[in-house]
Amino acid sequence: MSSELKYSNVKNYIDGAWVNSDTNRWLDVYSPLDGKIISQVALSSYEDLDAAVISAKNALKTWSKVPIKERVQIFFKYKTLLEANIAELSALVHEENGKTIDEARAEIEKSIELTEFACSLPQLVQGEVMEVSRGVECRTERVPVGVVASIVPFNFPSMVPNWTIPNALALGNTMIIKPSEVVPLSVTKIAELLKEAGLPKGVFNIVNGDREIVEAICDHPGIDAVSFVGSTKVAKLVYQRSTSHLKRCLALGGAKNHLLVLPDANPGMTASNVFASMSGCAGQRCMAASAMVAVGETDHIIKQLCEEAQKAVVGQHIGAVISKQAKERIERYITEAESQGASILVDGRSPVVKGKEEGYYVGPTIIDYATPDMAVTREEIFGPVLAIIRSKSLEDALKIENDNPYGNAASVFTQSGGAARYVAEHANAGMIGVNIGVPVPREPFSFGGWNESRFGVGDITGKSSIEFWTKLKKTTVKWNPEAGVNWMS
Ligand code: NAD
Repeated sequence: MSSELKYSNVKNYIDGAWVNSDTNRWLDVYSPLDGKIISQVALSSYEDLDAAVISAKNALKTWSKVPIKERVQIFFKYKTLLEANIAELSALVHEENGKTIDEARAEIEKSIELTEFACSLPQLVQGEVMEVSRGVECRTERVPVGVVASIVPFNFPSMVPNWTIPNALALGNTMIIKPSEVVPLSVTKIAELLKEAGLPKGVFNIVNGDREIVEAICDHPGIDAVSFVGSTKVAKLVYQRSTSHLKRCLALGGAKNHLLVLPDANPGMTASNVFASMSGCAGQRCMAASAMVAVGETDHIIKQLCEEAQKAVVGQHIGAVISKQAKERIERYITEAESQGASILVDGRSPVVKGKEEGYYVGPTIIDYATPDMAVTREEIFGPVLAIIRSKSLEDALKIENDNPYGNAASVFTQSGGAARYVAEHANAGMIGVNIGVPVPREPFSFGGWNESRFGVGDITGKSSIEFWTKLKKTTVKWNPEAGVNWMS
C-alpha cells in the first residue's frame, strides 16, 4: 500500500467504524481524467462480509422497531448534508468516474431528490384496515425485509447507491453495500454523512470487493434480499445465485436504447436531445441512446445532430470513460462498423485532450448506415457512440427496436400525437420517451426496465420500490362483540 496517493486506502465500514480488511488482495483506483492512481481498495474476504452481516443483524433488532416517522428524520438531515457537501461530493464523482464536473453535480442533485422521496415514505406506506365480517377485522402493514445487500456499478458512484440506501433504510432494513471496486470513494463520503445525520451503527455497512464478495452476498444465509445494478451478464448470475438460496432479488442489467426519429420531428430539439442522450456521461448511462432509427427523410436532422457533435469539446463537455480497456473496446466497435461498410459521420477516436494525454477519452461518434446485424447496433457500447439505422417505415423501426433483447428505454421524436402514441403503445421497453432522449421517470414514479434489462419484479426507485424493501403483514382479529358490553356492566 502506498502512502503517497491522493486518497488513503479505502477501508470497509462495519458497525459504525472504519476497519481494514484482512485481505492481501488490493486494487489500484485510477482517475480516468488523467490515468493516475489515486487510491487503493481492499478486495475483502468472506470473513469481512460475515462481520458486516453480524453488525447489520444486531442493528436490525432496534432499527426495525423505530417508528418510520422517526427514522426519516435522519434522512431529512442527510439531505441537508448532501446539499452542504455538494461541492466535495461532485468533485469525488468527477475524479473517480471521469464524468464532467457538471454531470457529477447533477448526480448529487439526483441523490438529493432520491432522499427527498425517502423522507415522504411515511405518507405512502400506511396499511389498511377493514371490518370484513361482524367482529372480524383485517389489517395490513408493511414491515422491513431484514438485512439487505446493495451491489452497485461504476457509472453512478453516488446516485445508484442512493437509489437504494434512503428507501431501504427508511423502510426499516439494515444494509450492506458493495460499491464498484473501480469507484469506491464516493460511498465512503456517503457513510460519513449518514453517520453525521445520526444513523445508528450497524444500520449501514460497506464491504468493498469484487466478484468474490458478490458471490458471498448471494450465498450468505444472513442476507435476506439482494439488489443489483450492473451489466446483464452479472445481473443474471446474481439473480440466479441469490434466488437459488431463496432470497428476494431485483437485478437491473444493461441496455440498448433506441431512439426513433420521424421526418416531422422538430429538428433543433431532436438534434440536441439525441446528442445529449448519446454523449451525456460519455455514453456511460444505462439510459444512453446508442442506436437511432431514422425513419424516412431525416437527413436535415442528422446534419444538425452532427453539428452538435462537432461543437462538443472533449475533456470539457464530454468526460472520460472509465478505463483504458473501455476506451479501447469503444474504439474497436467504431472500427469494426467502419470495416463492415457503415459510414463514420463524426469520428471521436483518439481525441487529443491537452494536458490530459493519459486520460481515457473518446469523442462523440456518429455512425450512419449501420445495419441491425452489426455489433455496434446490437450490443451495449457504453461510450459516446450513436449508430444510425435507416428505416423506411415506422413498423420497420419498431421491429428493429423490439428485436433487441434489452428493454430499458425507447424514445420517439415526432410532432404527431398519433405516431407518438403508437410507439409508446408498441415499444417493448419499460421506460418510454416522447421527444425526450433520456426518459428517466422522476420520483415518486419508479425506475426500471424490462426484458434483459431487469430480472425480478418491480422497480428499484419510487413507489414501486416499497414492495421490494418491505414484506406485507396481514393480521386478522376477532373479538366477541358482546365482550365489551359485559365487561362494562
Ligand atoms: P458490472 O456488471 O461489471 O459490475 C457491477 C457490479 O458487479 C460491481 O459491483 C462489480 O464488482 C460486480 N461484478 C462484476 N463482475 C462480476 C462477476 N463476474 N460476478 C459477480 N460480480 C461481478 O457493471 P459495471 O461495468 O460496473 O456497470 C456498467 C453496467 O451497468 C452497464 O451494463 C449499464 O447498463 C449497467 N447499469 C444498469 C442500470 C439500470 O438501471 N439498468 C443502471 C446503471 C448501470
